[in-house]
Amino acid sequence: MNTIAAVAIAAFTGFVPGSAISIAGANNTPDVHPPGKQESPEAWYRDGGQLIARRLAGREAIKPARNVILFVGDGMSLATVAAARILEGQLRGEAGEENSLVFETFPNLALAKTYNTNQQTPDSAGTMTAMTTGVKSFAGAIAVDQRAQRGNCASIAGSERVTLLDLAALADLGTGLVTTTRITHATPAALYARSPDRSWETDSGLPPTARDAGCHDIARQLIEYDRGRGLDIALGGGRRAFLPNQTDDPEYPELRGHRSDGRDLTAEWQERHPDGHYVWNESQFKSIPADSDGPVLGLFDPSHMQYEHDRSDDEGGEPSLADMTRLAIERLARNEQGFFLMVEGGRIDHAHHANNAWRGLTDTIAFARAVETALELTDPADTLIVVTADHSHALTFSGYGQRGNPIAGLAMRPTDDGEGTEPLADNEGRPLTILGYATGPGYRGGNRPDFETEDPTQPSYRQESAVYLWSASHTAEDVPVYSTGPGAETLTGVIEQNVIYHALLQAVPALQTKAQELSNDQGLPVLESILPTRPD
Ligand SMILES: [Zn+2]
Repeated sequence: MNTIAAVAIAAFTGFVPGSAISIAGANNTPDVHPPGKQESPEAWYRDGGQLIARRLAGREAIKPARNVILFVGDGMSLATVAAARILEGQLRGEAGEENSLVFETFPNLALAKTYNTNQQTPDSAGTMTAMTTGVKSFAGAIAVDQRAQRGNCASIAGSERVTLLDLAALADLGTGLVTTTRITHATPAALYARSPDRSWETDSGLPPTARDAGCHDIARQLIEYDRGRGLDIALGGGRRAFLPNQTDDPEYPELRGHRSDGRDLTAEWQERHPDGHYVWNESQFKSIPADSDGPVLGLFDPSHMQYEHDRSDDEGGEPSLADMTRLAIERLARNEQGFFLMVEGGRIDHAHHANNAWRGLTDTIAFARAVETALELTDPADTLIVVTADHSHALTFSGYGQRGNPIAGLAMRPTDDGEGTEPLADNEGRPLTILGYATGPGYRGGNRPDFETEDPTQPSYRQESAVYLWSASHTAEDVPVYSTGPGAETLTGVIEQNVIYHALLQAVPALQTKAQELSNDQGLPVLESILPTRPD
């Protein structure tokens, strides 16, 4: 290294090449927060906003966006994207490696750091809160910041953050949520609810202390959501959180609702919205009049909707993620102010938790179809589309397979003479699959599978995992952020995940103006507390 470069590095980092590396803390435990930088909701918000403002200042020609669509593939790691692109190509009879999922053709790419304020490897609640409020938070947090405490209702007073959905609703933009999970699950909930615990999906899930302190369950917060123009489109699963526990489910009469307060929230929603359309199966979904203006609530399963692989077997019939995205955009696009829409491919994560790669990949392909639908129905000149994941997952993709190796199959490597293939084998000569998991229920108790009797290409096959966990752990590496449309230019490099909020906010002047109107003297947007009374 020449001297100038060495000095430059020293100036930037305080590290002089050749000197002893100093490790913070006498016991070699690094400080959680770098000295001199106080981590706080205000700091997350300010730093994220300033980064995007600086990037915009350097690019005077960027036009504002009218519409914003945020696509979240839950647990859609880079390994998932790479394997799904190959599967998509192979399902068309191609080798697959050369294929691209539609969002991989977007011109802008960033990597997002996903950690929560309290966890190195994050959960979906804290990560989505970062993307919806501009402020990182703790695992389990639903749009409340790191000053609150998980499971403690009273602690959220003053920590309830304003979401992109609130800003869009207050600015009179159209608003929509589409997911394949329960609509009360962490990712969608972090747009319309405030809760110190993601598990408070229905009233029976709230501890008595939380009810006494005035917290409402997440389903109730969805039905009672009345900021600005409210929520125009909400489509997903999770019907049971809206129905009383004495009421039979309409699709599965052997199942009951989960509410202990006796309320039928679907009926209450219909009363609140006489012009609205409540639907719970595919044929009702298809008969919503295209020219009606009312809001739409679709709850297509008692819990999560089906995986794409199983959707055609659903009892009552379910629309696909692309079908739901189409309906949402067609209706929201009529709003002259523009719209904000979030679409979640929510079950990629669930398949990975179960070590079932096939359903994870086929749900990723269905997610790409939904993105394709959005591209067809919107104008790239006025619509910012961001496609990302909330966190990574335990899927591994390895094995030196030959070009076009079936993605769910055994790793077959090309022989040196180019004449054929041979299985990659472990130290006892046993083959392995291309896809595997670091953790999860696919662990074989220290034994390797016998591929004479097991067929790893079966859709319900559980890949091997290295360590047994009843449900695979998320992983902590960065997630990709693909973007296109006005303002997408700001989403590059390695960024903190909460920066995504600021890119979306600053791309749409109406959202930014609303956020500024609501800002306190610390620069953080605030609305009145959802709690009936604030503790002192
Ligand atoms: Zn998960």
